[in-house]
Amino acid sequence: LANRAFHPDDSIIDVSGVKVGGDHLALIAGPCSVESKEQVIEIAKAAKAAGANMLRGGAFKPRTSPYAFQGMGTEGLDILVAAKKETGLPIVSELMSADYIEEFNEKVDLVQIGARNMQNFDLLKEVGKRCTKPVLLKRGLSSTYEEWIMSAEYIMASGNPNVILCERGVRTFESYTRNTLDLQAIPVIKKLTHLPIIIDPSHAGGKWWLVEPMAKAAVAAGCDGLMIEVHNNPECALCDGPQSLKPKKYTELIEQIREIGHIV
Ligand code: PEP
Ligand code: MN
Repeated sequence: LANRAFHPDDSIIDVSGVKVGGDHLALIAGPCSVESKEQVIEIAKAAKAAGANMLRGGAFKPRTSPYAFQGMGTEGLDILVAAKKETGLPIVSELMSADYIEEFNEKVDLVQIGARNMQNFDLLKEVGKRCTKPVLLKRGLSSTYEEWIMSAEYIMASGNPNVILCERGVRTFESYTRNTLDLQAIPVIKKLTHLPIIIDPSHAGGKWWLVEPMAKAAVAAGCDGLMIEVHNNPECALCDGPQSLKPKKYTELIEQIREIGHIV
C-alpha cells in the first residue's frame, strides 16, 4: 500500500487543514514535553509567529529511565487543546498505548508513534483500525528502510492510509552526537514509497546548534517537513533541553528555510 509502484503520485496528507506532501512543507515546532499551560502557550504563539504550521508537545513520554519525567498525560493533552484554541495550530503528540486512541482522536490532529514503538505491531494494528487521525511514524532507533516501511504498511493495511514518515536519526558507532541523521532516507523513501517524509533534526543530533545546518540540508534534499523542538527556557526543560532551540533561533531558521524551499 505504501509502494510507489502502485501509486506513482506523491500522497498529500491533510492534517486538520494543513497539507503535508507534494509542495507543502510541514513546519512542526514545540517543546519535547508539555510542562505547563503558560509554557506551551508562550511557545505556541512564538512558533506560529515564526511560521510554524503545527504545534508539537509530548504528554506521554517514552523515557529511558523510569525515574525521569514521564509526561503530564491527559492533563498535557488538554493544555495542547487550549494552545490550539489560542493559536489555531493543529497538534502533534505521541501515543504510547492503544488505551488512549479514542482520546487522541478527540484531542490530537496528528498522532505520533515514537521511534521506540515503531515495531510495536499490536499498537500499529490498533492505530490502523481505530485511529481516525493521520499518523506520524518515526523511524526506529536502528531500523532499516524495509522495516520502517513495513511498519507503515501495518497501519495502512489495518485501515488508516494517512501515514507520514519521520526520520529522527539512527544509532551508529558515533557517540558525540545523540544519533546520526540519515539524509539519504529522503530520496530513498521517495523512491520506494509515495508517503511524505519529514525530518526531526533535534533528536538526530541531540544538540541545538546542529539543528540549523541539518534542517537546511534536509529541505535542500527534498523533505516534506521539519519537526523541531523549541523551548522558551531550554536550560530548565524537563526533557531534551540541550537539543531545543529558543524561539528567536527558530524564527531565524525559518526565515532562512524560506530561501531554500518554498513554503506553501
Ligand atoms: C519525541 O519526539 O519527543 C521523541 C520521543 O522522539 P523519538 O521517538 O524519535 O525518540
Ligand atoms: Mn524530545
